[in-house]
Amino acid sequence: MRVFKFGGASVKDAEGVRNLLGIVSQTTGELLVVVSAMGKTTNALERIVETIGQGDKRGVEEQWKDLLAYHQQIASSLGLQLKDVVADDVLGTVMAHRNAKDAVYDDLYDTIVSIGELMSTSIVAAFLNHEGVKAQLWNMPELLITDGSFREAVVNMQASAQQIQHAWHNPYRPRVVIAQGFIGGTDTGHRTTLGREGSDYTAALVANFLDAEDVTIWKDVPGILNADPRLEPNTVLIPQLNYFEAVELAYSGAQVIHPKTIRPLENKHIPLYVRPFLHPEQQGTIIKSAPTEPVNVPVYIWRKEQVLITMRAKDFSFVLEDSLSHIFDVVQRCRLKVSLIQSSAVTISICVDRSRSLQKALQLLGEHYDVTYNEHLSLLTIRGTTPELIERERQGRTILLSQLTRRTAKFVIAG
Ligand code: ASP
Ligand code: MG
Repeated sequence: MRVFKFGGASVKDAEGVRNLLGIVSQTTGELLVVVSAMGKTTNALERIVETIGQGDKRGVEEQWKDLLAYHQQIASSLGLQLKDVVADDVLGTVMAHRNAKDAVYDDLYDTIVSIGELMSTSIVAAFLNHEGVKAQLWNMPELLITDGSFREAVVNMQASAQQIQHAWHNPYRPRVVIAQGFIGGTDTGHRTTLGREGSDYTAALVANFLDAEDVTIWKDVPGILNADPRLEPNTVLIPQLNYFEAVELAYSGAQVIHPKTIRPLENKHIPLYVRPFLHPEQQGTIIKSAPTEPVNVPVYIWRKEQVLITMRAKDFSFVLEDSLSHIFDVVQRCRLKVSLIQSSAVTISICVDRSRSLQKALQLLGEHYDVTYNEHLSLLTIRGTTPELIERERQGRTILLSQLTRRTAKFVIAG
């Protein structure tokens, strides 16, 4: 069996869903298709959660109406009735929570934000069946079992593998199965999410559980490029990467694959293809364990909205020896995502993604250290760099911190 993953951009309109049908029907053999929410739906649902938090009932109703109309329009262009394909309890969830001002925020977030994937997969599955491709729709909140750490739920591998294998080995299962990416559920029936952009991770997990032949992530780019084409004019495709290089790229902030995706694949030596959904005949990028041709172009990766936190021990103790574990305890408790670390005798600097728990972390760290921090920074990582390139990239930029290793340069840049 094979696993395909279609992200939001690939199903942002009716044409995208038709294109998905084309790709699925040109594939023979058993297929598990993981689908994200349509277009920017997850962002819209995040705004709805915020609006619920503000107690703005009218605002919630308006935003929800727009989001429904967007899905309704896609469904009807595909010859479907939205109300026939999206269960009432899903539609009712938002309305039921409109007044839930004091609801536990993260729990509410997952209940609402997961609706995006429930709607997209309902439409995709209904359309495939409508077009004669028999497809079964899975409800991942019942199959991908997680703990209750809402917004970044941790998957229970054993329980999930069991559920998913059981569902897959059902003798009545058709060739094609449609499943939501990004969402799961606790064993007490709460919906959870795996962290933004988590659908790739879902695809990798199910591939691992079902010993897939390979995984294909269908994207709106030709494959993995050496830089973001929106930022660099002359990008080139990287045809092959090994798992290690792929993790490094993903972790540095390359948006093409979610950083958690590689591990479940590497464990079972399952190759991962990143291919363009508009040109399914093209090869794209393949990520696999075998040694690959070295990547011989410099690779640029931007990670935006970074915060650089510098700590100095108040009593002049040596930070690295005495405080590292304490600092990382705070990092872990506040679930900060660290993108870079640098230290001197009495200070340590960490660069982290901006997140809601930042203030809390700064307060906890401030109890023990003199803390300074800068916000709205970017981290630029250049892999496979040369001294000339480094010189060029420094020009005209305010660099707060740089880190150089043999082949990689990292700059924390203002703006
Ligand atoms: N729909 C989710 C998001 O936008 C998950 C995903 O796209 O992978 O974050
Ligand atoms: Mg997405």
